[in-house]
Amino acid sequence: MRAPLVAGNWKMNGTLSSVVPLSEVVAARAGRTRSEVLLCPPYIYLQTVSEILQDTSIKLGAQNLSDQTEGAFTGEVSGPMLKDYGCSYAIIGHSERRHLYGETDALVAAKFTVARQHGLIPIVCVGEHLKQREAGETNKVVGSQLETVLNLNQIAEFANAVIAYEPVWAIGTGRTATPEQAQEVHALIRAAVSERNTEIGAGIRILYGGSVNADNASELFGMEDIDGGLVGGASLVADAFVEICHVADGSVGG
Ligand code: PEP
Repeated sequence: MRAPLVAGNWKMNGTLSSVVPLSEVVAARAGRTRSEVLLCPPYIYLQTVSEILQDTSIKLGAQNLSDQTEGAFTGEVSGPMLKDYGCSYAIIGHSERRHLYGETDALVAAKFTVARQHGLIPIVCVGEHLKQREAGETNKVVGSQLETVLNLNQIAEFANAVIAYEPVWAIGTGRTATPEQAQEVHALIRAAVSERNTEIGAGIRILYGGSVNADNASELFGMEDIDGGLVGGASLVADAFVEICHVADGSVGG
């Protein structure tokens, strides 16, 4: 049984005056869920958010990490630094990192390795552009992004890793993949992992990301291979995010 995960990616949004109340409301209303809840604030607010989440089951994650461990890498943040601040997860290869900052499949794979070395759970993002979807290239694009990470890392390292399918055309656009469109790609991702190790493939959590909100979460999370969501915009609105967490809770079996 895969426990659903709802991860809030705040991106570069908020200041102390909004980050504190947002974290407090999420802590108070989603701090004891059966599904897993994760907040990924900007680096600079990790400490603040970590203190607010202290007595809850909500986890803390980073939006990125360096592929290096230490040294002359101005502006970078390493895995050990993130561990120091209570992170258990790190988002890797978000489409904004890939497309705005030129992160390649190989760099994403290297970040996966480093995250594992430092005891962080990577959430590896994959997804196609609109043109690629329209050209019927979705499976090829997602398959190739995933293959690079799988090829450069031992399959055992995927045992509790997370993959997020985020069609680029659905991120921050209000345009969501239909549950069927998402399920098709999720099934493909699970099959690619299962091909290397059946047990790991069956257990790996695959999140959907792309304009998830309180209205569409239920249908999306109800699909066989969708194990929760990576939520951008709606994670900045306390009520919406809490409701999404409760939807995920409702999909926990037993
Ligand atoms: C994201 O940032 O990963 C994301 C899916 O954003 P949004 O929910 O706003 O589409």
